[in-house]
Amino acid sequence: MHRHPDLDPTAPFDDPVEYSLRPQRLQEYIGQDKVKVRIEIALRAAQQRGEVLDHVLFFGPPGLGKTTLAHVLANEMGASCKVIQAPALEKKGDLAAILTNLEAGEFLFIDEIHRLSAPIEEMLYSAMEDRKLDILIGQGPSAQTLKVDLRPFTLVGATTRAGLLSKPLHDRFGMVHRLEFYTRRDLAIIAERSAHVLAVPLAPEGAEAIARRSRGTPRICNRLLRRCRDFAQVKGDGTISAESAEACLQLHEVDDLGLDALDRAYLLALCQKHRGGPVGVRTLAAALGEDDGSLEDLVEPYLMQVGFLDRTPQGRRATDQAYAYLGLTPGPGPLFA
Ligand code: ADP
Repeated sequence: MHRHPDLDPTAPFDDPVEYSLRPQRLQEYIGQDKVKVRIEIALRAAQQRGEVLDHVLFFGPPGLGKTTLAHVLANEMGASCKVIQAPALEKKGDLAAILTNLEAGEFLFIDEIHRLSAPIEEMLYSAMEDRKLDILIGQGPSAQTLKVDLRPFTLVGATTRAGLLSKPLHDRFGMVHRLEFYTRRDLAIIAERSAHVLAVPLAPEGAEAIARRSRGTPRICNRLLRRCRDFAQVKGDGTISAESAEACLQLHEVDDLGLDALDRAYLLALCQKHRGGPVGVRTLAAALGEDDGSLEDLVEPYLMQVGFLDRTPQGRRATDQAYAYLGLTPGPGPLFA
């Protein structure tokens, strides 16, 4: 069972259209008001003192704008930003090379930072705290440790779940921000902004139809907008109206809440096979042939957001709204197997 491709917020990095839709400055960054206010104060304070910004950690489901914010921070500080995926850092030397090459004030964005290997993570501790690196030169008894001073830099880390980060690493971030799912209103504004960038006419009701199905996620909003643009161009007059957006999204089998076949399979497994829970995520993952990490990252956060799922210490539980959505009655399910 796979995620509908347009609803999968784990996206390729080199998509040029997605890149062009990325807000560059804090002013253009829509929603996440609380985070924005805190960031703005930290930026101003650092600028006034002529210092680099504190290290920042962003956490939240994929596609909510963590990478975008890292670039926004760098732009606001007038600095450039190097981007690296944590799993790509295999050897200590890889990280040492990156850190020693950073210019003064430069930003380093490490995505999926919970996936760093232990030795590399440990190397980051002194780099973040004291701007120093201990580099081991040579092997055996003649090996020597070389202390290298680093130029001031800001590390921005992103992770889908803050709980996956080790405490020592977590504690070295001066700021930790949790990104929330976006409201429909914010998503409609994002759709309108993106439509403007792509020069496609979008009616307000069309923006609303797209926003409703975007799972609270800007990346999905932009994907659906692009599908609707194609549809309006080929099947309509080029304008994304409410009707053409609805017809397009129906064609792609994205339902009214933005749920797809994987979400429905998850809810059915929970409500029917496991009588609404409580049940462990591993059991559900096995029933669906999915990996439990991707259910936790890609399926459950939004199901909780729409009120269909509770995560309890005993396991996952379906809510009455989930039964109502599936058209089932809560109670002992007939299909327990
Ligand atoms: P993440 O790093 O959390 O997976 P990204 O920063 O790559 O997410 O965001 C995905 C896309 O969503 C971006 O290319 C951008 O176009 C759009 N986006 C994200 N956040 C916002 C926002 N606050 N306002 C407008 N567009 C946004």
